[in-house]
Amino acid sequence: MKKANKISVRGIVQGVGFRPFIYRLAREHGLTGTAGNNSNGVEIEIEGNPVSIQSFIRSIKESPPPLALIDAIESSDAEVKEYSDFTIIQSKENDERFTLISPDVTVCNDCLRELFDPGDKRYRYPFINCTNCGPRFTIIRDIPYDRPNTTMSAFRMCEACSREYNDPENRRFLAQPNACPDCGPALSLFDNRRKSVATNDPISLAVTLLSDGNVVAIKGLGGYHLACDALNEEAVSGLRSRKHRIEKPFAVMIPDLSWLDKIAAPSGEEIRFLNVKERPIVLMKRRKNSPVATAVAPNNNFLGIMLPYTPIHHLLLREAGRPLVMTSGNISDEPIAYTDEDAFDRLAGIADYFLTHDRNIHIRCDDSVGFVPEGKPVMLRRSRGYVPYPIPIDHHAEKAVLAVGGHLKNTFCLVQNKYAFLSHHIGDLENYETLRSLTDGVEYFKKLLTLTPGVVAYDMHPDYLSTRYALESDIPVKIPVQHHHAHIVSCMTEYGLDREVIGVAFDGTGYGSDGNIWGGEFIIATPADFRRFAHIAYFPLPGGETAIREPFRTGAALLFSVFGIEFGNLDLDLVKRIRAMHPDLLSLIPKMISQKINTPLTSAAGRLFDGVAALCGIRDKVNYEAQAAIEFQMCADESITNTYLYDLHRERTITQVRLDTMIGEIVKDLLEGKSASYISGAFHNTMASLIGEISESIREETGIGRVVLSGGVFQNELLVRKSITDLRRRKFDVYTHSKVPPNDGGLSLGQAVVAMHRVEK
Ligand SMILES: [Zn+2]
Ligand SMILES: [Zn+2]
Repeated sequence: MKKANKISVRGIVQGVGFRPFIYRLAREHGLTGTAGNNSNGVEIEIEGNPVSIQSFIRSIKESPPPLALIDAIESSDAEVKEYSDFTIIQSKENDERFTLISPDVTVCNDCLRELFDPGDKRYRYPFINCTNCGPRFTIIRDIPYDRPNTTMSAFRMCEACSREYNDPENRRFLAQPNACPDCGPALSLFDNRRKSVATNDPISLAVTLLSDGNVVAIKGLGGYHLACDALNEEAVSGLRSRKHRIEKPFAVMIPDLSWLDKIAAPSGEEIRFLNVKERPIVLMKRRKNSPVATAVAPNNNFLGIMLPYTPIHHLLLREAGRPLVMTSGNISDEPIAYTDEDAFDRLAGIADYFLTHDRNIHIRCDDSVGFVPEGKPVMLRRSRGYVPYPIPIDHHAEKAVLAVGGHLKNTFCLVQNKYAFLSHHIGDLENYETLRSLTDGVEYFKKLLTLTPGVVAYDMHPDYLSTRYALESDIPVKIPVQHHHAHIVSCMTEYGLDREVIGVAFDGTGYGSDGNIWGGEFIIATPADFRRFAHIAYFPLPGGETAIREPFRTGAALLFSVFGIEFGNLDLDLVKRIRAMHPDLLSLIPKMISQKINTPLTSAAGRLFDGVAALCGIRDKVNYEAQAAIEFQMCADESITNTYLYDLHRERTITQVRLDTMIGEIVKDLLEGKSASYISGAFHNTMASLIGEISESIREETGIGRVVLSGGVFQNELLVRKSITDLRRRKFDVYTHSKVPPNDGGLSLGQAVVAMHRVEK
């Protein structure tokens, strides 16, 4: 007996290959009918055998296309219309009120098979793609997402490609970037004076050049990489000095998983994360005596590893047969180069050769980075592969909100309806180039999402470029959001938490409501408000920004706060090193502190880590953000069970955590000859038990049993692990980041959600 159903699917089901998916599913089940887009999602009429219809609906629920996000499926009986087959109804343009732009998608297995099949017409074709894979976000100039609105408009599909594109049965049906060697983009090779290098096989020649120790700039999906042989110490060191990147680790791309065990010691979950379709760089413990050059990640126990994700990478890596360094195509911390002009301009002094092509990149998009502490993947940078896929929020925004993020690791966020669109990685807003990347990015997203923000959220720091940009914008409602409140709410949003939580926000720098630099904060937070319950007692940062680059200053300040001016007489290596730098420094630092000369006060846990690291002789000056703290973590002896003492001091409604006793004990340990490893182990234990103890006192007062951990310090895998263990032992529900970075890359999401709730209040 024949039956008919009308099915409406709501959620993100447009622009994600949903209708072709429905088409194939209906065919598989022997059903007939239609599928079309409307303003809410996809509307399906289906008829045939009732058992098949049930199984059809189950399949939609259980195995939708990878990028679809289904909010609801409603099905009701309908009249049998005797359709003879299944067809897709083409949508009228103004029907598509809400279209999702897909992130760039890793080359799929079907395309890979063709790529390496000598009989296939796309054999070794570096731009192979299909409905399920290929470039998206980085080639789209405007909506609707059709070929003329992408950077593929320059290429006219040949007859064979058009046939695939128009055939609902073909796996390249409606694949906008579809191309083949006859009609699509092509690779070319240049030297660093932009002279073309004649070859009919740019891939093979690039591999030879890499094997000879050259640095090759390679045009990827969202920008240029700088590549060299990861096993060649000299090549890697050369790249480092040319790029002016002193010790900050480089990422490595491996040909396939068989290389993993040779260079790292991965867990099962890490391997799974490495393999996800977004292909992030995953930080993993490196194997001792691995063949990877030490210059790839000096003084670091971790290695950033990724798998090939474009056909170009697959071709290169398979032929090279060894790991390649693949680091962003930029000098130091500038934005990554993505136009050919800019790449030749800025990278000519670094790269010996350029492997490039004629498909333009419309918007830059850096590689994503993550790691797996406590068995669960955590994003450290959410960008290529993830953006602009939205983060669902448990709340319907009445007005579209723009949040402009912070200063470092900037991202912005647009919230519309029930979705938060967190942007690609913009970078540190230290220069005009990066600020422009932010402002252009915002305009681009507004266009893609067809929205006009009515509210703008920004950090309370008056001097941030992002703050000025927000204040100068013509968006009518402007809402400042405190830095650490935004951190905690960004994590709450991941879990849909909207009732009060205990928020532990540990980071390096964030402007506090009292004008001091916060960052060791225990707050009671809802999405709209927060109250500061406790914080690490303020300590001075002699030299301000300089102290961040020179942690010995913070180390000296910690000593001065405990021992007074006598600290200069302590028989400590740090004191000797400071004296050796300049004899006057030992009296100058106390003077700066006492007279408050360029010496802000801070409660930042990140700065405390820096200072203690300097005290232990880890590092007096850093070459990249948080280097001292990272190396201090790396050296920790995890078998140590000791903790140091601290004092809790209640002043009116706020508890201050005083660390004088701990600093005194650390000095005693140093004088007794205890190692940095020992002290680091005990220090991490102390921080974890501090988090547990203060959370418990908040619970006693308020009854709140949920603890949210956020802020850049929670990129410290050891601290995360120890804190979670301690909190669970005390029977707390613990929430840590996963989809959104704990560092300032996640800030804009929190800002947007706070603003949304404030507006409604
Ligand atoms: Zn494919
Ligand atoms: Zn073609």
